Amino acid sequence: MADDFDAEQKRYLEGFAHGITAVRMTGGLGTGGAAPAPAPEPTGPDAPHIKAQDKLVKAGAKLSDQEKWKRAENPFDGHNRLIAEAEAGKTPKPEDNFRWRYHGLFWVAPAQTSYMCRLRIPNGILQHWQFAGIADLADAHGGGYAHVTTRANLQVREIAPEHGQPFLDGLVDLGLTARGAGADNIRNVTGSPTAGIDAQELLDTRPLARSWHNWILNDRSLYGLPRKFNVAFDGGGVLPVLEETNDIGFQAVEVTEGASVEPGIWMRLVLGGITGHRDIARDTGVVLRPKECNAVADAILRVFIENGDRTNRNKARMKYVLDAWGFDKYLAAVEEKLGRKLERVDPAHIKPRGGFDRYAHVGVHRQKQAGLNWIGVVLPVGKMTTDQMRALAAIARECGDGLIRLTVWQNFLFSGVPDAHVAEVEARVAALGLTTRASSIRAGLVACTGNRGCKFAASDTKGHALMIADYIEARVKELDVPVNLHLTGCHHSCAQHYIGDIGLIGAKVVVSEEGDTVEGYDIVVGGGFGEAARIGTEIWKAVRAEDCPGRVELLLRDYLAHRTGPQESFQ
Ligand code: SF4
Repeated sequence: MADDFDAEQKRYLEGFAHGITAVRMTGGLGTGGAAPAPAPEPTGPDAPHIKAQDKLVKAGAKLSDQEKWKRAENPFDGHNRLIAEAEAGKTPKPEDNFRWRYHGLFWVAPAQTSYMCRLRIPNGILQHWQFAGIADLADAHGGGYAHVTTRANLQVREIAPEHGQPFLDGLVDLGLTARGAGADNIRNVTGSPTAGIDAQELLDTRPLARSWHNWILNDRSLYGLPRKFNVAFDGGGVLPVLEETNDIGFQAVEVTEGASVEPGIWMRLVLGGITGHRDIARDTGVVLRPKECNAVADAILRVFIENGDRTNRNKARMKYVLDAWGFDKYLAAVEEKLGRKLERVDPAHIKPRGGFDRYAHVGVHRQKQAGLNWIGVVLPVGKMTTDQMRALAAIARECGDGLIRLTVWQNFLFSGVPDAHVAEVEARVAALGLTTRASSIRAGLVACTGNRGCKFAASDTKGHALMIADYIEARVKELDVPVNLHLTGCHHSCAQHYIGDIGLIGAKVVVSEEGDTVEGYDIVVGGGFGEAARIGTEIWKAVRAEDCPGRVELLLRDYLAHRTGPQESFQ
């Protein structure tokens, strides 16, 4: 298919004309006939992408394979063919694996010869019956377990080819979808997990996350971007949502008297976060009314669609357009799309954000509603069995407000739990082999899928994360402050190792002259989020996995020996 498409690009330059989803001949090329008719302008929802591709091709650039696949058959147009092939038990070709990701299914061989499904859960919040329903689907079609991801989302694994579409159909029955959860699309929309229950919050992010979720789901022109794209909404509460790691972050802020805009709650716009590429989103100076977020995010995306790199996947994120243009030029292009100027505010007129509670995702916390609590449950590197999920759903229904709030820390919160039910919730969670209490190291333990389920991984991140936590809990009992430990299996950085206090990225460690390797990690320290957002610094390369617990212990003991007191963070 790739070769065919290269020929197609060549023909285009010689005078072929473009339709919307296919190239068709409009003249007598090669026949000695009349000059080809001018190419008709693409129209319809795919047109912005086709025009952006055409611009690159005309300039002599070679589109990436993924761009050719999107062009040859839009993944939504090809859905019925994909289903038929999966029902026949066929393993998807690379281009169809890419297309399935538009529908939320990822063929993850050779790590597992099956699909993984990544859902979409706006603001990470589910009703108890949806959570239990996903468990039933994971039993019927998957491996009988699920993982909470670092985008406050759920993934279900070990879905056989013929079970892929029935799983997706089951999600629809639950009022859920996985549409656009993978490939070059806008990923799960995150928002503050304590939205609506946090006394410190400035704004409830749930309506914003839900509205943006529906906005993007229902506009085909916002799929098929140059590369994946992340958007997050922070309401200003005590629990971070890590919006600074997103392409677009909206931060609720309070603008004070005397500013160039009315005082009150606005959304500050930060752009360009992508920690795997060592960048954290930066303040644009722009503030928006909450109701403007969708239109502005839409315009930002359309500038990216037209100008993002579609030739080199490593440079195809929005960050690289921002780097090449600078914020002023990018925002001018956004304003042109919007047909109006955006409001800007001097940072001196923005009140400092309220602080974070680094334990807010674990244990019992008072809600702003009198007599009610949220309770954070620790999941071992995000994993739950389906039996645990159904039992947890029952706890949410019987003891809380019925909601399960997933967090970017790979765990979840019960909310709306009356004081009288707190002890019962904790006891029922413990009876499931889980806990609402965690040590300083386990509370901030984050690990990507690793080589048990992802072909890109150099190491078993989840297994090693638990190994390190066990070791540290047994040996560094005096650790009295939370220390975030992030393990990621490859440069894609799904576990955001660069913003951990201690971050590990998978690496093959050469152990013999013959080139034999074992699993290991490069180690970075000093990353952070929120006000302390920073990309960590690499201090060790190629440490064997078995030596990592000792290295982490060394770092923690050094911190404990040299800090001025517990108020001095690890960072
Ligand atoms: Fe896979 Fe790499 Fe993401 Fe880990 S960081 S889940 S290894 S792609």
